[in-house]
Amino acid sequence: MKKGKKLYEGKAKIIYASPEKNSVIQHFKDDATAYNNQKKATIEGKGILNNRISEHILSSLSEIGIKNHLIKRLNMREQLVEFLDIIPIEFVIRNIATGSLTKRVGIEEGTILDFPLIEYCLKDDKLGDPIISQEHILNFKWLKKIEIDLINEQCLRINDFLQGMFKGIGIKLVDFKVEFGKTKSDEKIILADEISPDTCRLWDSKTDKKLDKDRFRNDLGEIIEGYQEVARRLGILHEQSNIRPIKFSKPTAVKIKKNK
Ligand code: ADP
Ligand code: UDP
Repeated sequence: MKKGKKLYEGKAKIIYASPEKNSVIQHFKDDATAYNNQKKATIEGKGILNNRISEHILSSLSEIGIKNHLIKRLNMREQLVEFLDIIPIEFVIRNIATGSLTKRVGIEEGTILDFPLIEYCLKDDKLGDPIISQEHILNFKWLKKIEIDLINEQCLRINDFLQGMFKGIGIKLVDFKVEFGKTKSDEKIILADEISPDTCRLWDSKTDKKLDKDRFRNDLGEIIEGYQEVARRLGILHEQSNIRPIKFSKPTAVKIKKNK
């Protein structure tokens, strides 16, 4: 499919116009950023893996009736997706306490939460994606109450499904972030963006070894190997034989701490 002009370039993906109505091409880059863009690197092969992993997850979610923007994967790095008006909120669902939650409320790392915790962050890099409450969302008319309820319900269904799917392949779904958007034609809210090791925390069930972007955030090394392990366990790595061998490009020559 012939790509149109670049509509937006983000930290990890590029959105291009597509020749098909109401759709855009989502291109997965190898770029990685953390700590509000302060840490940057190129991780060779990451975009290919995220494209494939996210396609697998979003297709599986479609099968259980969770509507989302994925139309089809086009090639190794690109997907055709429905063009949406993205809701400027990141929805974070947590099962185990780690990351910003532990720092913010002082809860011990690794605490298993009694029930999934949904948090809302304003999607605004300049402001550092601050955490916000439902009252902010309502007061500033980012969403109506009925829309928040619908998205919360979808987040919990996605969490339930993904927890089970990952459990089956020996992985704990610790937390993840999702985005939603409204369709151009009838303003229906559907799941957007990506679900991948860039946007989830995934720990090996037995060892708690991290298989996600925390390997980059925390200089744990073997970043791409973590992503490959997720793809391998999902049964989709065999289609990716041509992304190997993976070489780390310069900025990712990170210190390898002895860690999980
Ligand atoms: P960021 O914008 O945070 O740097 P990315 O590099 O992942 O993030 O860029 C992808 C951008 O595309 C995100 O801002 C995301 O909200 C947006 N996006 C994802 N899916 C769609 C879609 N279906 N329609 C329009 N925009 C989308
Ligand atoms: N997350 C994300 N994009 C963001 C912020 C968070 O995908 O801009 C994901 C992150 O990978 C993790 C979850 O959301 O799976 C919770 O992240 P947390 O707030 O703990 O992020 P931190 O501040 O530690 O990066």
